[in-house]
Amino acid sequence: VYNFSAGPATLPNSVIQQIKDDLPSYKNSGMSVMEISHRSELFEEIIQQAQQDLRGLLQIPDNYSVLFFQGGCTLQFSAAPLNLAIKYHRIALLDSGHWAIRAMEEAKKVKTTVDILASTKKNHYSRLPTLSDFPQDEYDYLHITTNNTIEGTAYKKIPQIGQTPVVADMSSNFLGQKYQITDFGLVMAGAQKNLGIAGLTVVIVKNDLFAHAKNLPSMLDYQLFSQKNSMFNTPPVFAIYVAGLVLRWLKQQGGVLEMQKRNQKKSNLLYDFLDESKLFTAPVKKADRSLTNVVFVTGDKSINSQLIAQAKDYGLLNIKGHRLVGGMRASLYNAMPYAGVEKLVSFLGKFEKDYWG
Ligand code: PLP
Repeated sequence: VYNFSAGPATLPNSVIQQIKDDLPSYKNSGMSVMEISHRSELFEEIIQQAQQDLRGLLQIPDNYSVLFFQGGCTLQFSAAPLNLAIKYHRIALLDSGHWAIRAMEEAKKVKTTVDILASTKKNHYSRLPTLSDFPQDEYDYLHITTNNTIEGTAYKKIPQIGQTPVVADMSSNFLGQKYQITDFGLVMAGAQKNLGIAGLTVVIVKNDLFAHAKNLPSMLDYQLFSQKNSMFNTPPVFAIYVAGLVLRWLKQQGGVLEMQKRNQKKSNLLYDFLDESKLFTAPVKKADRSLTNVVFVTGDKSINSQLIAQAKDYGLLNIKGHRLVGGMRASLYNAMPYAGVEKLVSFLGKFEKDYWG
């Protein structure tokens, strides 16, 4: 079975095996990881190693903090403006789809003005918005979504407006596509796609950007989480442990650039098939296509339903598109092997052949 879900997503087999092996007694402690104290040496080692591995894999400079939160990436849509939009209470945003709009809605709720500088809504988000004019207004930061999970687009080059820090929602191509951390003031990512399981959200943030916020609710306070090494209260111990295993696996596989190469190869296989097909279409502009979320359509809802049902019987799970856009979507995160995409392409080819009779 291959699981093409957009998240929670498939994990590497070796990680699942390690979890099974560790489950009854982590490092001969007689307790499972779920039962150990977050103040214990055993957990201290887990969290330190995970942070260290993440820093190594992404070459995170020392003037950036690596913070672990609960509440999903959605909570960071509130936390980022509360911590960073201090001077102007105004941020800029590129509207590349659903998650950008969700970020805008949450920022507004915490009394931050949001200016949409460009939007591709009228193109049904089948391409990425880019900056044409250099805005005159002053902003605390520019919010972008590096990879649009639902619409299937991804930035290769990060848009910049002068010295304005870029805050990136990288949830769906975190560790799957190589970016320079120094291009960003802040990166946020939920773990449940490329870093393990739901319940953990990573924030990588430049220290001088959050030094001025005051009196924030503790669970949203970057300064507090930085001082307490993400253990102000009980952290999501099991999710951090799984993230640690995924990071170790990633290092063994050759790191983020190697993952990007593999994701490129996997997505090329699928996009090439779709571009040749007379039944299926990949609607996203070629230059803007995501490596991790491949969206495709037939233009006929009943064919889509048949396809999705047959795929499931064939062991190809969760290829239904997001309810907002319909069609199909195959998510090809780091743990999806090339063989999974080969099997999908072969199935789609057979379905198409049968369709034309
Ligand atoms: N941002 C992006 C790009 C996403 O894909 C998702 C969820 O799929 C979210 C934000 C929301 O994340 P969470 O469910 O962790 O709050």
